[in-house]
Amino acid sequence: MEFTDILWAPFDHFVNLSNRMAYLYLFSALVVSIIAYMVNKARKGEAESVSLLRWLLPAEVLKHPSSQADFAFYFINKMLLALIYGSVLLTAPFAYHALTGAIVQIFGPSTASFEPHLGYSILTTVVIILVLDFSLWFLHLIFHKVPFLWDYHKVHHSAEVMTPLTAARMHPVEEVVDSLTTGLTVGATMAILHHLLGPAAIQITLFEVNIFLAVFYFSAFHLRHSHVWIRYPYWIQHIFVCPAQHQIHHSVDRKHWDKNMGFIFAFWDWAAGTLYAPKGKEDITYGLGTDEDGGSWHSLRALYFLPFRQSYARLFGKKDIQPTEPAE
Ligand SMILES: [Zn+2]
Ligand SMILES: [Zn+2]
Repeated sequence: MEFTDILWAPFDHFVNLSNRMAYLYLFSALVVSIIAYMVNKARKGEAESVSLLRWLLPAEVLKHPSSQADFAFYFINKMLLALIYGSVLLTAPFAYHALTGAIVQIFGPSTASFEPHLGYSILTTVVIILVLDFSLWFLHLIFHKVPFLWDYHKVHHSAEVMTPLTAARMHPVEEVVDSLTTGLTVGATMAILHHLLGPAAIQITLFEVNIFLAVFYFSAFHLRHSHVWIRYPYWIQHIFVCPAQHQIHHSVDRKHWDKNMGFIFAFWDWAAGTLYAPKGKEDITYGLGTDEDGGSWHSLRALYFLPFRQSYARLFGKKDIQPTEPAE
């Protein structure tokens, strides 16, 4: 990887539509926000006395040390991850080739010779998005439940105000674990689908990603990390995770802890008993909900190194650093 590629990485995420941070997905969130503002104004609600610009970009959010830390962390992190990702991105092809080899050893070469067909392509695309989403949900669950991993996931939950950049407030350890694991599960799934369907196992993509993922990003994905409350009807919240449900995931309120781990689909949480589907507007304060809120996490030094210090203290019983426990 060239040095200029590393410097360009934070900007590449804005222009490359295969990335969730791309301008098109941010634009869709902006459009939905403006509609939400107009609806609120029509109802003479909260937006009534505030201009659109101030409602979209409140000074208390922009000036908050939490969002300023997000901004700096985003640029440094994307460059750092660009350095690491060359090897991480090879995980899916590696898993695909390794499992294909194993399947051939055990079952012999694939005899499937289905001709490419829209039905098979849709089946392949749906299976892959389900495997990807379940993998992300399960990883998110264990990052909450395993204390050693929670020390790293706290970086994301330490945000006390949220902007779309908060989506990238993830410790590199968590980013790499997520990428390696989803690369393995999706690559392995492709190997199985190719064995079963032969040349008909074609994934439908848009902007070089699974089409359902691109549509998900386009459906105002970025409002989940914002102050704009968008809630789907109650029954749809059991199928798709709406922005309000993820905002609840970031709430300091104990009754919201460990709820709504889902990324795209909500039924994993529904099945596991971790779904929280609000029936109306809820006032939410973002943060960890512990005495660590209030500023200790809003520096690059804390975001990168506190998880290492806290997990080390947890493993080796250092008394000077008190890691907080994950939610019960
Ligand atoms: Zn979480
Ligand atoms: Zn989040």
